[in-house]
Amino acid sequence: MTERELMQAAQDARKNSYSPYSHFCVGAALVTKSGKLYTGCNIENAAYPATVCAERTALFKAVSEGERAFQMLAVVGGKEGETAEFCSPCGVCRQALAEFCPPDFPVLLGTPAHFEKYTLGELLPHSFTSENF
Ligand SMILES: [Zn+2]
Repeated sequence: MTERELMQAAQDARKNSYSPYSHFCVGAALVTKSGKLYTGCNIENAAYPATVCAERTALFKAVSEGERAFQMLAVVGGKEGETAEFCSPCGVCRQALAEFCPPDFPVLLGTPAHFEKYTLGELLPHSFTSENF
């Protein structure tokens, strides 16, 4: 799977966003080291703290099915009904990713047409991990 295809998978996952409160739709696509794809969207709740982001939806789907080794993540987001814009993972998602992914784990942000590649270490420097125990 190419980086552009992974971004397109995140864009497609964005269509399933349940975001009646923020009207901000996010999709994420996570590919495992074995090449399996897991996608997610943000899922909001009337009780706001019960909301979950697209990135954690994809990650938890994968982990709940036994996956532990990941190759790359793509995130696409923006206001409902508009072309996606640059959307960066929130701090909670960065921390959740750091549980399973090393600092050099690539994260693609932007749109399928134009995206940038970051590392998880750039997005979450000095993260708290199991090595801190
Ligand atoms: Zn998040």
